[in-house]
Amino acid sequence: MNDCLFCKIIAGEIPSKKIYEDDTVFVFEDIAPTAPIHYLCIPKQHISKLNEVNESNSGVIAHIYEVIAKLAKDLDLKDGFRVVSNCGEQAGQSVFHIHFHLLAGRPFQWPAG
Ligand code: 5GP
Ligand code: ZN
Repeated sequence: MNDCLFCKIIAGEIPSKKIYEDDTVFVFEDIAPTAPIHYLCIPKQHISKLNEVNESNSGVIAHIYEVIAKLAKDLDLKDGFRVVSNCGEQAGQSVFHIHFHLLAGRPFQWPAG
């Protein structure tokens, strides 16, 4: 866990462009954005991926979605936005601290490739 990139970002050991922070959630800009708005929304608690969400830690995941809804309102994302959580290497997960990509500011295709 101490070797986790996103835990180090939360701790301030690695710099990031912070967008939002509260007691349990941290939001920062993705270092390689794929849309005009590309934020990473993460729990401060280390959960490695989506299939490790359970009844003891799902409260923070629900809170992440409350934060996303608030950010969407504050940022006036009325044209829409996309939230993505890649789970596992085949799905494209490269950092194993659960995260939700918040993407906005351009059209998106579906189904995603
Ligand atoms: P994943 O591929 O796991 O779904 O998403 C990981 C994301 O973390 C990628 O979009 C990648 O650009 C981003 N990322 C990787 N390293 C860093 C970093 O050091 N700082 C920030 N802000 N984002 C990072
Ligand atoms: Zn972590």
